Amino acid sequence: MAINETIISSVVQKVVEQLIKAEKTQHQEFNGIYDTVDEAVENAVEAQKKLIAMPLEVRDKMVAAMRKGALDNNEMLSELAVRETKLGRYEDKIRENILCATKTPGTEDIQPFAKSGDHGLMLLEYAPVGVIGSLTPITNPTGTFINNGIGMVAAGNAVVFNPHPSARETSTKMVEILHQAIVDAGGPPSLISSIRKPTLETARQIIDHPKINMLVATGGKPVVKAVLSSGKKAIGAGAGNPPALVDETAHIRRAARCIVDGASINNNIFCTCEKEVVVVDEVAGALIKFMQETGKAYLLTPQEAEQITKLVVNSEGKINIAYIGKDVQVILKEIGIELDEKCRLAIFEAPRDHPLVWLEQMMPIMPIVRVKNVQEGIRFATEVEQGNRHTAIMHSTNVDNMTAFARAVQTTIFVKNGPAYAGIGLGGEGHTAFTIAGPTGEGLTSARTFTRQRRCTLVEGFRII
Ligand code: NAD
Repeated sequence: MAINETIISSVVQKVVEQLIKAEKTQHQEFNGIYDTVDEAVENAVEAQKKLIAMPLEVRDKMVAAMRKGALDNNEMLSELAVRETKLGRYEDKIRENILCATKTPGTEDIQPFAKSGDHGLMLLEYAPVGVIGSLTPITNPTGTFINNGIGMVAAGNAVVFNPHPSARETSTKMVEILHQAIVDAGGPPSLISSIRKPTLETARQIIDHPKINMLVATGGKPVVKAVLSSGKKAIGAGAGNPPALVDETAHIRRAARCIVDGASINNNIFCTCEKEVVVVDEVAGALIKFMQETGKAYLLTPQEAEQITKLVVNSEGKINIAYIGKDVQVILKEIGIELDEKCRLAIFEAPRDHPLVWLEQMMPIMPIVRVKNVQEGIRFATEVEQGNRHTAIMHSTNVDNMTAFARAVQTTIFVKNGPAYAGIGLGGEGHTAFTIAGPTGEGLTSARTFTRQRRCTLVEGFRII
């Protein structure tokens, strides 16, 4: 066949197309961001196969690199998260990222268990589930990724994230950093990936994808319900409405300081933050006075409280999302109150049926409800938690009272005499989790949560004593 111009141009065109395709693939593999769920999942399946063929030593290196990547980019990520989502506070995002990078367990969490006896040896190992689909909230577009990313990969899985659409830029940056850290540490590309334009539709595709083996939803009730109705193994980390109960035996000044700090971190957007205070009448005045004395809490008059309520709760009785996660200065300015920079929280005395007692406000506006005595406080605080099984806090020096409340409220996290954030390891013992699975019961998730158990039994051998 004679080579003419048409053939040459067709060959050139094919070569150029292939080069573009190769470059695109390389680019996509490079940063872990995919246009479609299918592409992301197919690549995640391959990446996970490569991961389990690698030594655990490489996995540890990957985890160490992910921690470092998060810490090295902390300022940029925190600034971006606040700028994009317009929620929370820069300095608290910094704390959140340090917490997640340093207190999320790695492979030490999946140590096997062995039992030897008359019949030989039994070995229990925590095996990967495969590919996990993780749906993440707008409130923590950095912390959830660091925390889920380390835990899921340490357990030997790949993960495809569907970030909240309004936190897309931050989440994408976060995934790129974790992805790069893994590749630099010798791990396979696409172990952690995300969808370029996440939507409810891509969330649905992840939920339904036959090659996704486990779903993890961190968010409100609808997304938890969506993953639990999928027919797959699913972990649901849902909303909370954590009450802080203060009885007459508490160290009141300390309780006041803890509540102000706990409720105002990140402008109250952590799901664990104190959302209402329930206080025994005889110490209520002192508690409010000490809260004001921190210099970080402003006491609203009854009229101001009414104006603020009208502003932040809409006519349908729902939270006005325009004020979620905003600084207290921004919210109070709307009713003509100027606060100094140090202020973090507005507090007010509320009747029991006040909407902010029952709604998850996620803003630094805190209702305080008086009760006659601790028994009434336990009953009421349990009611306002609404069976979320999320978080509750108590300030008391009476062990019986604390035990009674813990038994009644049945939350995943119960903090005694500290800010609520101590319960996620910030100034409290224990590992951290930004996926707290109350509805499905895994509690503060970690690498082990993202595994399936496998048993190996050796009959009549390996008992050496
Ligand atoms: P959200 O439920 O609106 O969104 C969370 C994620 O789920 C997003 O990626 C969203 O796109 C997706 N989503 C929402 N509805 C869906 C549906 N029907 N089907 C499929 N996907 C869906 O939550 P948010 O406003 O981003 O975050 C705040 C909420 O998350 C609060 O209620 C807070 O308490 C909760 N939260 C819980 C935890 C926890 O560990 N328990 C941690 C952080 C936040």
